[in-house]
Amino acid sequence: MSRLLKEERLGRKALLTRNLVPGKRVYNEDLLQRGGAEYRTWDPFRSKLAAAMIKGLPDSAVGEGAKVLYLGASTGTTVSHVSDLVGPGGLVVGVEFSPRVAREFIEKVARERGNVIPFVADARDPSKYSVAKFDVVYCDIAQPDQTEIALANCAALLKPGGTLLLVVKARSIDVLKDPERVFIEEEKKLRAGGFDVKSVTELSPFEKDHALIHAVMDSEG
Ligand code: SAM
Repeated sequence: MSRLLKEERLGRKALLTRNLVPGKRVYNEDLLQRGGAEYRTWDPFRSKLAAAMIKGLPDSAVGEGAKVLYLGASTGTTVSHVSDLVGPGGLVVGVEFSPRVAREFIEKVARERGNVIPFVADARDPSKYSVAKFDVVYCDIAQPDQTEIALANCAALLKPGGTLLLVVKARSIDVLKDPERVFIEEEKKLRAGGFDVKSVTELSPFEKDHALIHAVMDSEG
């Protein structure tokens, strides 16, 4: 059975991820049985990755068995679904610099899930969590220099040919500029940094003035 299911629920597209820890909820998601396995509902209003997947980001962007570096883990809502997607053979290293928020992430998510390793660290210093080379870097840190931080992490820790999923919050970069303009400028920075940009998915109606950029690092690294 697939680790990600897409179905119609209440007349809308819905996502479900196969629960790595059956019987356990992380937030107030529903637990549903499908084909003899337990799945968790994944709310696109609470997760920008779910919003992007509903809006066309390919499922293969975070595949089974992948090693994922997740920057901006927060309390771990989306990390928990990434942990479901990569499954027992994958790994999610979650980095969060706020100790208060990270405590909830560690207690509710990392402690329960064998494929999640938490780091209370600043994403500006990748040497603090350099435990592996990753297939995917996911970055959602809402900082003005988030693209530069994402690129520095990729240079240090992403495998050649690996995937970068960068959440761009236009208002964190420039409150006055048209969000479309901000998305184009961040996309240009990725191209200049040696990435092939596959798509830029604007996340409305789930998130206002946000986009998720899907890019692949040149194979030469
Ligand atoms: N990705 C989360 C989700 O979908 O559940 C939401 C992330 S929230 C928008 C941004 C998070 O990034 C916050 O928890 C914040 O503390 C963290 N953050 C911001 N700057 C950071 C940095 N330089 N290093 C590590 N974490 C950072």
